[in-house]
Amino acid sequence: MRTYRDLNGHVHEVNLEKMDYEGPGEMRVRLVDFMGDDASVVEAARVSVKRGLKGAEKDRKLIKYLAEHSHMTPFEHVVFKFYIKCPLCIAVHVLRHRTFSYNMLSRRYTSRDITFYLPDELRSQSQTDRQGSEGIIEASELLREMKEFYESSYRLYRKLIDAGVAREIARFVLPQGVFTEFYMTGNLRNYMHFVELRLDRHAQYEVQWVASAILRCMYELAPVSVSSLWWYHIKGRVELSERIGELVKDLVEAMEKEVMK
Ligand SMILES: Cc1cc2nc3c(=O)[nH]c(=O)nc-3n(C[C@H](O)[C@H](O)[C@H](O)COP(=O)(O)OP(=O)(O)OC[C@H]3O[C@@H](n4cnc5c(N)ncnc54)[C@H](O)[C@@H]3O)c2cc1C
Repeated sequence: MRTYRDLNGHVHEVNLEKMDYEGPGEMRVRLVDFMGDDASVVEAARVSVKRGLKGAEKDRKLIKYLAEHSHMTPFEHVVFKFYIKCPLCIAVHVLRHRTFSYNMLSRRYTSRDITFYLPDELRSQSQTDRQGSEGIIEASELLREMKEFYESSYRLYRKLIDAGVAREIARFVLPQGVFTEFYMTGNLRNYMHFVELRLDRHAQYEVQWVASAILRCMYELAPVSVSSLWWYHIKGRVELSERIGELVKDLVEAMEKEVMK
């Protein structure tokens, strides 16, 4: 059983099964494990004066002070391990974040369970942002062709494997939309940096979704810390797309309410 403490001294049981989010096209973010909570941040900050928790009101004030004045190391004592399933090209975006520890499925070891990401809609190329998309193209036949292409690439892959070709060679025919899965472990400070960069509308929608699910899980376990970091470090810097803004509207409201307490 996993638990976390709130600043009132209450211990809460965590149902990890509820920290499991299914996203577009069967993408997935699941909290596997964690260490620490808001109280850990307070304890880390006060160890320098040989003190611990002092009660909800003072502890909440301290967390906000730490975030406001960028005393960031106490937030490093809260650690999360996530399981992420996403298309290969989206995993590349996540893996660029160097402060995390990763372990990943290897297509050199296994040729089992190969599935592909099919977007629920075809976004059109943005005319103002070279890396972005905007609007939707209504073309169900193109979506169908995409699916057929996945199927034919999978057929060729199986043909190569069945002919005895090594998995490390056969995998070259799998497109960027093939799903991969990995564990990602890191601390709250660095996850909030990840959220700042990847929840933003300049990131690709699929990785925005990953960042939104991670933020939601972290908020459940360390609401005061996550909300304070959001307020002082991210709020004014991140620009949300309409779609992701709608998805995290309730979470943003909850975080802002938490800071106002
Ligand atoms: C919208 C968007 C578009 C992007 N487009 C491209 C692209 O076209 N091509 C491309 O190559 N990348 C691209 N990136 C990736 C980007 O350049 C970063 O590699 C990625 O976002 C990780 O950011 P980071 O280095 O701040 O984070 P992390 O790697 O998580 O590092 C966290 C922090 O640790 C510190 N740090 C870590 N390593 C070092 C180091 N070696 N030296 C000094 N400080 C360090 C820095 O303060 C850093 O901010 C894009 C990212 C975004 C969000």
